[in-house]
Amino acid sequence: MAEVNEQQIVDALRCVVDKERNQDIVSLGMIQGLRIKDGHVAFSLEVDPERGPRLEPLRAQVENIVHKMPGVLTASVVLTAERKQAPPPPAAHNHGPAPGGPHGGAQGAQGGSLLPDVQAIVAVASGKGGVGKSTTSVNLALALAAQGRRVGLLDADIYGPSLRRLLAITGQPVSSDGAKLDPIEKYGIKSMSMAFLVEEETPIVWRGPMVQGALEQMMRDVAWGPLDIVIVDMPPGTGDTQLTMAQKVPLAGAVIVSTPQDIALIDARKGLNMFRKVEVPVLGLIENMSYFSCPHCGERTEIFGHGGAKREAEKLGVDFLGEIPLDTAIRQTSDDGQPIVATDPEGDHAKAYLAIATAVWNKVQQTTADQAAAAPRIVVQ
Ligand code: ADP
Repeated sequence: MAEVNEQQIVDALRCVVDKERNQDIVSLGMIQGLRIKDGHVAFSLEVDPERGPRLEPLRAQVENIVHKMPGVLTASVVLTAERKQAPPPPAAHNHGPAPGGPHGGAQGAQGGSLLPDVQAIVAVASGKGGVGKSTTSVNLALALAAQGRRVGLLDADIYGPSLRRLLAITGQPVSSDGAKLDPIEKYGIKSMSMAFLVEEETPIVWRGPMVQGALEQMMRDVAWGPLDIVIVDMPPGTGDTQLTMAQKVPLAGAVIVSTPQDIALIDARKGLNMFRKVEVPVLGLIENMSYFSCPHCGERTEIFGHGGAKREAEKLGVDFLGEIPLDTAIRQTSDDGQPIVATDPEGDHAKAYLAIATAVWNKVQQTTADQAAAAPRIVVQ
């Protein structure tokens, strides 16, 4: 069966009328972020926040129409409410107008930033998947907590969230104030992930604006409370979604995780360039799976030679924040949801993560101070 295309979907939806506004939803420009992949269709219906609760029947109707179309396997339609007080991401350029047209520029004077009670938000990113980015994020967060910081960990990987597994978290977040969700606390850190909110096996086919919406909700609608630092485990890669996320999250800086091979293959460089594009300071590079440490005799084998990452970091003009060996104990503890910094805090691996945590924290302080001392900002009255 031929795959359905965008035009066919739009045409089919012209008959759906938003009764309160007496016009069809296509002419009203309510369809946003339409994506089709292998018969899976996903998009959002942009609505006024105050109308959201009343429009569930419309959403269901639209989803139903699309689902019944030939060539459609699944249809996923969500309501997104454009916030009238969207804050501009600090130190980043906006990419064109906000979706939704005429209301796009309506930003409140004070805005209200995302995570206002958090001192610093740091992204952990990598040029590609599988380099140990999530394992590093979790252990780095735990190491910062062990050093007395109040720490949050946000899993920004909407498509492939991994935090439930890495922290062995069961159950769903609850809301103690009836307004915001409480983050889940484990091993002394607060965490939030899409994996806490959806069924494990549910494929998440959201794209574009929906992804942004979900990420923003995990910041805005979660009671993080006052924290010293939030570590954001970014999705792997350096595509558009990552770029948008880097813009949406008010980052103090980014840390790039790379393996020795990838540094040689300049994957890390792509990660660096992505953050430079959106003017997010790169705090430095962490080399993961740096050398092999033998589980039997403890001998260290420099599989890829030693010092390559450090030299490469110098060449790229970023700090080298430290190295973590390739070790079965790290893999096992990580995959069992018993991260090594929490379960073997006196061991050599925990020490390596603690040293990196110190380097990251110092670098955050320095960068924040530099930013504060930078040229005065233009204030629009
Ligand atoms: P990413 O987030 O980059 O996709 P993960 O953190 O999920 O990567 O790690 C990928 C796999 O590598 C996991 O099975 C993890 O346990 C393992 N791993 C990560 N870091 C190390 C390490 N230093 N030593 C051994 N295994 C590791």
